[in-house]
Amino acid sequence: MGLNVIMMGPPGAGKGTQAGRFARERGLLKISTGDILREAIKEKNPTALAAQAQMDRGGLVDDAMIIAIVAERLGRPDARPGFVLDGFPRTVAQARALDELMARTANSPLIVIDVAVPEQELVRRLGSRRICRGCGANADGVAATSCGCGGELIQRTDDDQSVVRERLKIYQTSTKPVLEYYRERPTFRVVNGAQPPERVAHELDTMIDDAASAMSGERAR
Ligand code: AMP
Repeated sequence: MGLNVIMMGPPGAGKGTQAGRFARERGLLKISTGDILREAIKEKNPTALAAQAQMDRGGLVDDAMIIAIVAERLGRPDARPGFVLDGFPRTVAQARALDELMARTANSPLIVIDVAVPEQELVRRLGSRRICRGCGANADGVAATSCGCGGELIQRTDDDQSVVRERLKIYQTSTKPVLEYYRERPTFRVVNGAQPPERVAHELDTMIDDAASAMSGERAR
């Protein structure tokens, strides 16, 4: 049975880092819609370039486009053992589309994790976040100047203060309702993302394993 995880949470909650680590450790496919879009922009893909202005402003990209990207990615064989979604779904329409997709492919239920962090802490974190121009990895703190891969560390255009405020506003209006959409499911969990990353990782692993075994218990009955 595949392990299908959605890592939810506001920008700066650390969900990308945790999603990457968890996927690596469990041999699952990580799908980050933000990374896919940034990669496609670098490759000058016309559809992605059309979405770039929206991204730079801190807004959301068109639902239909994002749903098509995720549907295509989930349809590939490497998604079969399970996946970790990072940055998707961000709207209730996307969450509904994902449910329809999962029902069609008779996949295991989704385990939904909300990485919760207070807004003040998010603004602080995003202001000092740097990413590698070469490999796209996240680096903490303004002090570092280069990545382990040798690439230059830069600030994401959308991590600028005013854009951060806009992204947090959009999170409240469009993405918070997605948490309500999932909240009553037996596989929904909340982790305190304000803790040190190793602590978050430990709690998150326990929560996901617990949700997965609760699910297989349900199925066996
Ligand atoms: P992220 O790296 O997840 O913060 O995503 C960066 C930007 O890509 C977001 O601010 C949006 O403009 C766009 N984006 C990524 N994922 C989605 C999504 N699921 N729905 C709409 N826009 C998205």
